[in-house]
Amino acid sequence: MELNNNLSIEEQRRFAAKCTDCPLYKEGTQTVYGEGPERAEIMIVGEQPGDKEDLAGRPFTGPAGKLLDLTLQATGISRSASYITNAVKHFNWKPAPNGKYRQSVKPTAGEIGACRQWFNRELSAIQPKIIVCLGAAAAQAVLGKTFSISRQHGQLLAPEPERHSYVMVTWHPSAILRSFKKEDREQKKMEFLEDFAKVAKLLKKIRQQKTSLKLKRAA
Ligand code: SF4
Repeated sequence: MELNNNLSIEEQRRFAAKCTDCPLYKEGTQTVYGEGPERAEIMIVGEQPGDKEDLAGRPFTGPAGKLLDLTLQATGISRSASYITNAVKHFNWKPAPNGKYRQSVKPTAGEIGACRQWFNRELSAIQPKIIVCLGAAAAQAVLGKTFSISRQHGQLLAPEPERHSYVMVTWHPSAILRSFKKEDREQKKMEFLEDFAKVAKLLKKIRQQKTSLKLKRAA
């Protein structure tokens, strides 16, 4: 879609609702655009909407959203003060083998690439201090490269000249919930919590630096 990059989130949401730039527009019920305040300090990026999100038109409202909410609460990060979105805005699915529910299908690199235009516009509007990528597809959309979540989650990547935000990559909550063994699930939940605790600590440091800069200027 030929649009400029200076649109407000509301304008982006309206235009994205008509997007047909990849085949996924035929799959989902609607686009599920990001939500949260413009200029939020933290931007949380998932992979794609799930079944419940597709129907509700809001990101992270299903079981994965509940785990995310609990983790945010436990680490003192406000969901309503964060901007929450997905790398891909339409739900990609196929019927489950028993035909009783819609099973998520991972977006391809081409679909992530087609939808990056929307993510880039969200990034321009929000300009977050910290981006938290949930899962490999989000990491690919943000960092433009493949990322091993199991080996590299929890690393805080410092801003670079072409990327002004810190980046943290961690587990996608759906991947945690899908873990077959209970001990794997509990281990990943703990790591997810620890990764968000690092984000909360960094946010506190960023706020303190901002306050001391203001005080210096006022002196
Ligand atoms: S997934 Fe993204 S690029 Fe593809 S049709 Fe939906 S909004 Fe457009």
